[in-house]
Amino acid sequence: MPAGVGGNRPPGGGAAAEAAHHLAALVPPLRFAVRDGFAALPRLTAFEELLRGAVARARAAGAPDSAALRALAADADGFDRLPAPDKKRVLARVAGNLSTLIPVPDDLRELAARGRVDARRGPAAAAISSSTPTSSSIKPLSPRGGRETKPSTATPTTPASGPSVSSPSPWKGQGRGEGRREPGGAPPDLAIWDDHEPAGTLLARPGDPEPPLPPEPTTRAERQSRRARLRQKLAEVPRAHPAPRALLEERGHLTVEQALSFWPKAYQDRTVARRLGDLRVGEEGIALGQVRATRPARMRSGKPMLKVELSDASGRLDLVFFNPPPWRMRQFAAGETILVSGKVTEGFGGRRQMSQPEVERLSPGDSANFGRIVPVYAGPADYQHPALRKLMKRLCDEVAPFAVDDLPRSVRERRQLLAAGHALRQAHFPPPGTDCEHAAERATPAFRRLVFEELFFLQLALALRRRGIRRDPGIAFDVAPARVAEVAGLLPFTLTGAQRRALGEIARDMGRPEPMNRLLQGDVGSGKTAVAFAAMMLAVRSGWQAALMAPTEILAEQHARTMRGWLEGAGVELALVGAQARGKGQRAARQALAAGRARIAVGTHALLEEDVGLDRLGLVVIDEQHRFGVLQRARLIAKGGRPDVLVMTATPIPRTLALAVYGDLDHSKIGELPPGRTPVETKVYGDSQRRKAYDLARRELDAGRQAYVVYPLVAESEKSDLADATSGAAELARVFAPHAVGLVHGQLKAEEKEAVMARFRSGEIAVLVATTVIEVGVDVPNASVMIVEHAERFGLSQLHQLRGRVGRGAAKSLCLLVAHFKRAGDEGRERLRVMETTQDGFEIARADLRIRGWGELLGTRQSGQKLLEIADLYRDEAILEEAREEAFAIVEADPELSRPEHAAAAEALGERWAERLSLGQVG
Ligand code: ADP
Ligand code: MG
Repeated sequence: MPAGVGGNRPPGGGAAAEAAHHLAALVPPLRFAVRDGFAALPRLTAFEELLRGAVARARAAGAPDSAALRALAADADGFDRLPAPDKKRVLARVAGNLSTLIPVPDDLRELAARGRVDARRGPAAAAISSSTPTSSSIKPLSPRGGRETKPSTATPTTPASGPSVSSPSPWKGQGRGEGRREPGGAPPDLAIWDDHEPAGTLLARPGDPEPPLPPEPTTRAERQSRRARLRQKLAEVPRAHPAPRALLEERGHLTVEQALSFWPKAYQDRTVARRLGDLRVGEEGIALGQVRATRPARMRSGKPMLKVELSDASGRLDLVFFNPPPWRMRQFAAGETILVSGKVTEGFGGRRQMSQPEVERLSPGDSANFGRIVPVYAGPADYQHPALRKLMKRLCDEVAPFAVDDLPRSVRERRQLLAAGHALRQAHFPPPGTDCEHAAERATPAFRRLVFEELFFLQLALALRRRGIRRDPGIAFDVAPARVAEVAGLLPFTLTGAQRRALGEIARDMGRPEPMNRLLQGDVGSGKTAVAFAAMMLAVRSGWQAALMAPTEILAEQHARTMRGWLEGAGVELALVGAQARGKGQRAARQALAAGRARIAVGTHALLEEDVGLDRLGLVVIDEQHRFGVLQRARLIAKGGRPDVLVMTATPIPRTLALAVYGDLDHSKIGELPPGRTPVETKVYGDSQRRKAYDLARRELDAGRQAYVVYPLVAESEKSDLADATSGAAELARVFAPHAVGLVHGQLKAEEKEAVMARFRSGEIAVLVATTVIEVGVDVPNASVMIVEHAERFGLSQLHQLRGRVGRGAAKSLCLLVAHFKRAGDEGRERLRVMETTQDGFEIARADLRIRGWGELLGTRQSGQKLLEIADLYRDEAILEEAREEAFAIVEADPELSRPEHAAAAEALGERWAERLSLGQVG
């Protein structure tokens, strides 16, 4: 062995041959399985065993440990049980790793090269992406002076993988140039570049350490100056190319920090250039070739174009540029070697070509566009990318390292998070070996760090707020068991087990001197109102007032009517506070409250008005909280001293969301419906099938039942929507005659609305046409049909709530969703199908979260507030849990964030995050 080769046991020729022999046993079954597009894959049995055995035998024969060998062993685990697509991926990986260890036939090398494109991160991912391509795709090309070629299969394994690293070929000892290679050596394929050094940078090597970061700042002043550096305007960055700068600025990224948060939408692996002969028509490819000739030409239309002919030892490729600007005409010099990237198409005479490829001349140093995994941004065109990447890379190299790490070091270490500077850099330029698809899904360490940070600060804000609330003095109500039994006894039914549990949790909180801050979550119709009522009566019995705030007038009236019924004979006065303060009834209601005579207030946000005096307010119940600006929540609460707060929501918030948005609240759940509910049969119809829906509805009406027909209304001022509902009502009056049809919408006066609702309740009106104002209220057990028009415009959770309006009586109920599929598209259709298949609000909420994002679910989208920028609550649930644990632990240990290790976080909370988190600044 040549000197300088590492390793405790230099592989002797005999041992190497034997090890290779054991591994070679894998070749026939592999070829068998992969031939004809994996045709025989189903007949590949017990491969797991075979693979494991081969690796073990190779090791026993003295094969040095290497990443590729370890990867092979890892891929054996569970192989036989994998689904077919995964098997294909793993086999490609196996072929790749094998090809770095022993010579393999071309078909396996090709498989390895393809597999690389869609290889998913597995235990062996790093090894794959590092070793496969180098061996499979770069074949010697003789740029100058026809070097002799070497078989590319004699490659060692990945660098940084132990003793074998510096040996070019652990088993065959046939590499050359060992003496010249620095320790930790480059893959031997690079040897072909040896005679023109610059290209040595082309192949990025996995395992290269990130450039070190400057030492962390220790004083506030240092941190401030570093933060200022990141807040620096792009316009002030010296020598920044104006074109990419403009691209960023147009999109609102004015500072370096903002530019760095222009996250890539995809990545391309350009760590490996392929042989020209290996490029396939229809694929995206990166290749390296020598310019043979350039030829200006004309298109058929007469417009100018430029053809450039490239070649290497394996084949040829034409580059085509349309309407080339003058600099392009001068770009290519014969004999020069260039890198190209683009889609391979079939050109004239069946020759392969690339139109408008990205081009870079091979040059020394670090390139932003080749020899690495490069970012692809959403928006800018392909031809704009090279300059944009150059700018981004500069920012990553020169400014990102100075980003202040706001996460406490202990958290970073415990949760194994990258440093801020590295995370920013790797988000744009992932380290070699990264799986591009993974990176695009943001499932890389860089994004883990960034997502963690975002969720951590959200949770930190919630934790601080929760602690703040806890410390306020609150009211300790009388919640003796006899009291609780007494207030529950006012209800005309027995509470379900779930209701009793929830009431128990609420009562426990109310009995304590700290203010309660609790979320009561329950599916539509689960009986939250009854629980809330009991809680309100606990407050009243202790001598306090209680207020219930509902999102719509109709719902407020509904609650008031229900509760007055329950209060009969209890000697407690209830005041319904309406939107207009005028009118005798309103004056009386407000006076009764101000004088403390009325103990229960029910209303909409009218409750927030100045002249609604609630001096003895002890408990605030907020129904359907997500419809209120959270700031309103705070205002109502401010009316009392420090009242207990109960937030009710029918939106079946997945746990993730509850943690993210209500993370400061304790959580009760009613997970069971009161007895006597019947499941609602749901059907989706296309626009043209509306008749069928009407026929079904008519049958119910004829049987004496009632129906709702709901039209969407995004904003109550949208005239066209209103027109839709109005003309719909007229049409339905004809369709359903002689059954009476009534219309209720947000622009009616309160009395008008109430009149229509009263006639519907009494059964005088059979069909109630409504805009979404009825979404969260209305309890008419005789109604058994819900028709929703333009169902595609509703969120699934909204539809679920609408559906909850029926199925309240004994009769079997129907929910008929009429959708304009042309507008909705296939995705919309699929989305609505969820409604047909499940009644489970939780499942529906998860689907909604997955499909439409959480803003939709919480109804905050219109408000334009964007709480989370990179975290995705659906995807990042696990990270959220971790971030929450850390944030709450920190606040527990250091409530003022006054310890030096928390100083950066405290500053960041007040500066970087304050604005975005204000959404959460409640109560
Ligand atoms: P939510 O507010 O959770 O949507 P409601 O409180 O409006 O549900 O309850 C839905 C219906 O069920 C109402 O008619 C209510 O009177 C009734 N209800 C509530 N709890 C019970 C119970 N334990 N037993 C029987 N009916 C109940
Ligand atoms: Mg309700």
